[in-house]
Amino acid sequence: MKYKGSFIIEYKLRAITGLRVGGSREEFDIGGTDNPVIKLPVEIPEFYEDGSSIPKEAPYIPGSSIKGKIRSLLEWVYGNVERMYAKYGNAKIDEAGKPCDCGECEICKVFGTGDAKTLDELAKRGKELPGPPRAKFFDAYPTKDTLERLERVLGKGLFTEVKTENQINRITSKANPRKVERVPAGAEFEGRIVFDCYKENDHELIPIIFHGMKKLEDNFLGGYGSRGSGRIEFREITITWRPADFYKGLGQEHKVGPLKGVDEVLEKLGEIKKLCSSG
Ligand SMILES: [Zn+2]
Repeated sequence: MKYKGSFIIEYKLRAITGLRVGGSREEFDIGGTDNPVIKLPVEIPEFYEDGSSIPKEAPYIPGSSIKGKIRSLLEWVYGNVERMYAKYGNAKIDEAGKPCDCGECEICKVFGTGDAKTLDELAKRGKELPGPPRAKFFDAYPTKDTLERLERVLGKGLFTEVKTENQINRITSKANPRKVERVPAGAEFEGRIVFDCYKENDHELIPIIFHGMKKLEDNFLGGYGSRGSGRIEFREITITWRPADFYKGLGQEHKVGPLKGVDEVLEKLGEIKKLCSSG
C-alpha cells in the first residue's frame, strides 16, 4: 500500500423533478408536512465566493444520501445484491439486504466495508485487504443562484414547495391527501467527491464512481421516486488529480473539465485515468 494521490471530483447536481431528501419528523413543527426535507440547522457563514452565507433552513443533500444511493444501485448492477442474498437467504433477510460485506470486490474497496469480522477473516486467510474506503462523498449545498431564485419566487427564507399527493380509496373514491415537502425542480446543488488512491492500480477503480452517477441519473435520489420525485442530473463536472507530491509542495495538480455531464466524463475515462501518471 502506498498513497499515490487523490482525484477531486466537483460537480453540480440539478433537480430535474422536485427533490425530497428527508429530514426527521421530530425536528419539524406540529402541523407541518408529514415528510419534511432535510435543512441546515444553522447557517453556514461566508460560504460563497462573494462572502455571503447559506441561511439556516436552506435545504441540502447529505453526502451519505448520495453515497448510499449510488452504492445500492451499483450493488444491483454488479450482482452484489444477488450474492448477499445467496449467502444469507430468507432466514437472515436483514443481513441479506445490507451493503456487500465481502471486503474483496470493487464496491467494497471504493465504498468501504465496515465489517471487522470479514477483515479479520481475510487477514487470517492471507488474502489481500481492501484498504481504506477510496471515495468520500461530501454534503452538497445549494448554489447561490438557486437560493436567490427560490426566495424571489417563494418568499424570504422559503426554499421548498409543499405538494399534496392523494391516495384514492378504491371502493369509495374518497381521497386521503398527504403533504410532501420538496425542493422545487430546477434547484442546483454543488458537491464534491474525493477519491484517494492507496494502491498501485486504484485509478482503475475510478470509473465505478461515474458509472454510479450515470445509474443515479436513471434512477432517483431521496424519496417518492416511483411517484415522480428525485430525478437528477450531474453537470459541470471537473476532475482534478492531486499527486502525493502536491501535498508536499512539490507536485502540480492536473485537471480535466469542466465537462458538461456524466456522458462526457464517460467518453473521457481514458484521459481521466491517465491524470494519475502525471506528476
Ligand atoms: Zn464486496
